[in-house]
Amino acid sequence: MIKRTSQDIRRLNRFEVLRRFYAGSDAVSRQDLAAATGLSFATVANLTSELLEAEVLVEAGHEDSSGGRPRALLAVNADRGALIGVDIAETAVHAELFDLALEVRHSVERPLPPGDVRPADVVERLADCVEELLRVSGVPRARVLGVGVSVPGVVEHEGGVSSFSPYWSWHEVPLRALLDERLRLPLRLDNPLRASTVAELWFGAGREADDLVVLTLRAGVGAGIAIGGQLYRGFTNSAGEWGHTCLAIDGRLCTCGNRGCVEAYVSTRGIAQTWRELAPDDTRASGPDDAATVAALARAADERDPTAIEVINRTGRHLGAAMANLVNLLNPRVVVLGNQVVDLLGERLLSATYEAVTRHALPLPRRAASLRRSAVPHNAVTRGAAAFALEGFLDDRDVFGPVSRMRQPRERRDAKRTGPAVAEGGLRLEG
Ligand SMILES: [Zn+2]
Repeated sequence: MIKRTSQDIRRLNRFEVLRRFYAGSDAVSRQDLAAATGLSFATVANLTSELLEAEVLVEAGHEDSSGGRPRALLAVNADRGALIGVDIAETAVHAELFDLALEVRHSVERPLPPGDVRPADVVERLADCVEELLRVSGVPRARVLGVGVSVPGVVEHEGGVSSFSPYWSWHEVPLRALLDERLRLPLRLDNPLRASTVAELWFGAGREADDLVVLTLRAGVGAGIAIGGQLYRGFTNSAGEWGHTCLAIDGRLCTCGNRGCVEAYVSTRGIAQTWRELAPDDTRASGPDDAATVAALARAADERDPTAIEVINRTGRHLGAAMANLVNLLNPRVVVLGNQVVDLLGERLLSATYEAVTRHALPLPRRAASLRRSAVPHNAVTRGAAAFALEGFLDDRDVFGPVSRMRQPRERRDAKRTGPAVAEGGLRLEG
């Protein structure tokens, strides 16, 4: 069992406190924070005084409390600095500059070349995006508190290595080192599953629920998991690779090399393949790219094309069965569906999915879970990536003075995440 250090607990508590500022009203009292988080007033007072010292929070007047002493209010100091959130998707790099209240100030996008993109292409475009954001916003480089980058695939949280990317043939790419060299700004790297889950925790369904699953459906498919209001990363930061769980033994070939994965049926590529299988002569089923094909599918379904409707129904059946596995396994309060596929296929896909979840999930967890579309405004991935950058800034040893001296040395933290249990050989039968 992994023992949590006092520093880990402090970081988790800080996340809980900060989350209330982003999820709720503009100004919050320490008493309200204690009530909302379940932390003691003393702990909240301690954490908020650190955040005030770091100028992440500011005093924001007092609220009337009937009879008693007026309560001091705190708010996020939006002008403390800027954060940049980057979403590396399969066709483009999207980057946004946020203030510290995580409001979008400027957005830019650079298309990626089609086909097998090299890490250097991505780094180059990402650096261009950051330069342009700084230029158009007039924000000096020194005011950028951090850059959060979401990159598809399996990303080692500590080392920042993208071990595997589902779109491109990337293996063991030292992305953090490449970006560090080019950007020279504090950097946090993670994948879109976790970025959109943090955005949902801070700005979406997480405002009402602490146990949620956020499904990403685009060229890649996966699940972000939050348990008790905290992002669940797994031992080596790869939790949530639900897209590569098996839905059909000996089924379709998947981009990961296995067969029958969820992703092979419900990604844009999988949906386009289903359409081609059902209508081999329909040229609309072979668009310039998979996202365009799925958009054409949505139009065909709107025109009551029976094959198109059948493709969406089949996709919903696959998605619902795979979702029922998650509902049975995790017993979430909310399952959030976001991203491209849901935006394109909308209610038609959702009702087919809902029917299938109802059929496949056990009654108890099924009744506890509600299924909804993402309510995070704008791009959830860039927003979540910016939230990671903020976390990185707060973790920085310079920010909190004496507290940071209590941290474990880096080596020990690394050892904890990649200890002997994941040595060569991996999964073993023991005993
Ligand atoms: Zn797979």
